Amino acid sequence: VFSSEVLLVSEERLLERAQEEQQSDLLRVISQALVITFDQAELIQTIARLFPRLGITGCWIFLSDQPGDLSQPVRLRLAYNRFGRVDLPPEGRLLPTRRLLPAGLLDLPSAFTGIVYSLFYGDTNFGFAVFEMDEPDQKTLEMLTSQINTALQGARVVEDLRRMEAEFRLQANTDPLTGIYNRRMLYALGEPAFLLARRHNLPLSVAMVDIDNFKQLNDQYGHAVGDQVLCKLTDYIKERIRGADIFGRFGGEEFLIILPETGAEGALAFVDRMRKSIQNHPIIIGGLTVRLTVSIGLACLQVDRDQFIDHLIDKADQALYQAKQAGKNQVAVYSPTAPAA
Ligand code: GH3
Ligand code: MG
Ligand code: MG
Repeated sequence: VFSSEVLLVSEERLLERAQEEQQSDLLRVISQALVITFDQAELIQTIARLFPRLGITGCWIFLSDQPGDLSQPVRLRLAYNRFGRVDLPPEGRLLPTRRLLPAGLLDLPSAFTGIVYSLFYGDTNFGFAVFEMDEPDQKTLEMLTSQINTALQGARVVEDLRRMEAEFRLQANTDPLTGIYNRRMLYALGEPAFLLARRHNLPLSVAMVDIDNFKQLNDQYGHAVGDQVLCKLTDYIKERIRGADIFGRFGGEEFLIILPETGAEGALAFVDRMRKSIQNHPIIIGGLTVRLTVSIGLACLQVDRDQFIDHLIDKADQALYQAKQAGKNQVAVYSPTAPAA
């Protein structure tokens, strides 16, 4: 990988030599610079820097928000003229298609000849390039346009890939039904929160929340209603937790809440308030009123006993089992003396 500085220095030297020799060599160097550019912003920089050397005294590039639809407005994404770069906002300047070069905007001389080329991928027009040149050289401009075309398509592909990568990363971390963290992410985020609490001897609690008799609810109302109940309960809990809390779907109808800087007393008060609130507020789905209760297992960090977040999650799960055994719709706090699962 070359540093941009190295590239610039060698490009500068090539340009000097090329200018001494022939226009065609200069064109070759510029072509190469265009071809290796896969980023739209960088392409625009390259054009503004190099095109004046070919006697192109002005260049305007317009890209459409909706490629293929010529009735839609386009955005001016690059403009330079004899006086230098025209400042544009990063997202470009929106223009109606029929007025490619609105007077006043571009500081044009009164007699001006612009040569317009369409930008295409396949059959789809996605914008225009307008050039101003003292002695218009069609061949050069056609070639440059075709390279801008190629570079912009390359930039599009790279941008698509980046977007897809970000989407994949999000999908790997979130539960598709509820949109909250999945189990994998709960461990990934819980571990540093846990280690931080351990190191600074701060309290931290973990609550495992499980819907009571959810199988029965599914049987009674159907799986689709069950799904909606899971989503509504997610929203309900989300509204009640604090910003620093880590909340996710641990499994089917089990949710995990990691509560940093919260000791046994505070955590118990919080989850029991939540449990009662869920019991007292039926979930409305369409015309349906669904009554719901949850059981909650709570475990609080003990610095001398818990090494990893997994230990604490296991303990919360054991406490949950105790809450179920004791009759559901209640909170159980993990205690090592109580009978374990
Ligand atoms: P308990 O009170 O002991 O927790 O009983 P339960 O019926 O809630 O627990 P059980 O583990 O017996 O059943 C869990 C049910 O949750 C069975 C499964 O079909 C349902 N379930 C799991 N994931 C989903 C889901 O994504 N959507 C729906 N609708 N149901 C789900
Ligand atoms: Mg359940
Ligand atoms: Mg369960």
